[in-house]
Amino acid sequence: MKIMKKLIAGNWKMNGSLAANQTLLQELIEGFPLQPACAVAVCVPAPYLAQFRALVQALPGLSAIDLGAQDVSAQVSGAFTGETSAAMLKEFDCRYAIVGHSERRQYHFETDALVADKAKAALAAGITPIVCIGETLAEREAGRTEEVVKRQLAAVIHTNGHCISEIVVAYEPVWAIGTGKTATPEEAQAVHAVLRAQLKAATDHSDRVKILYGGSMNAANAASLLSQADIDGGLIGGASLKSKDFLTIIAAASA
Ligand code: PEP
Repeated sequence: MKIMKKLIAGNWKMNGSLAANQTLLQELIEGFPLQPACAVAVCVPAPYLAQFRALVQALPGLSAIDLGAQDVSAQVSGAFTGETSAAMLKEFDCRYAIVGHSERRQYHFETDALVADKAKAALAAGITPIVCIGETLAEREAGRTEEVVKRQLAAVIHTNGHCISEIVVAYEPVWAIGTGKTATPEEAQAVHAVLRAQLKAATDHSDRVKILYGGSMNAANAASLLSQADIDGGLIGGASLKSKDFLTIIAAASA
């Protein structure tokens, strides 16, 4: 049986300030449905994990929103300057950690194997990795979308074995991220169906795995994307920084 509760996760990327975060979170809580019919998370820059945790005490409504990080180290501890371990994220009550975002693959040269190891490190600490996969425009135009996303997901399946049912997958076509270009609901659904079949072949519990769509999802297009059979939520960049837009997406996922 497929899980029906969708997940809407905001990826703030390298945006925010103490003051702006507090305003955004306050606005979200004020507009938040009392019992949202979808799960909601925000993945904040690492320095703001502590702020979120402190605000949960001050603003009880905030407990309806889960906290996520935008990356996690594959290493447990030691001489890895600049890295943040999964155990550290856990201390701040992180429920999720994005791994393999295309910006990390592109600018920090993260490989499929490293992304798979990061997912494993997160799972070992009790954190759900949101594993991002997706093709570039050149790959799509060359007809290689399916091959690329299957290769990226296969690495995570290979490294994580039966734990694969505990991950969240985010299909994020690279050409759609931050560009205002969105995959059509049909284009996204076609890739999600491929990923669903791959997960089904890997685990008896594939129905537990949420497959999010990400890439310029916004208040205007969320409902049509989220109505697709295999789209179980969204990973939202730019629109997660605007409370009104993020709330509209949450409402679309709750319909
Ligand atoms: C993202 O950063 O994961 C993302 C999907 O960004 P945007 O919504 O801005 O395209």
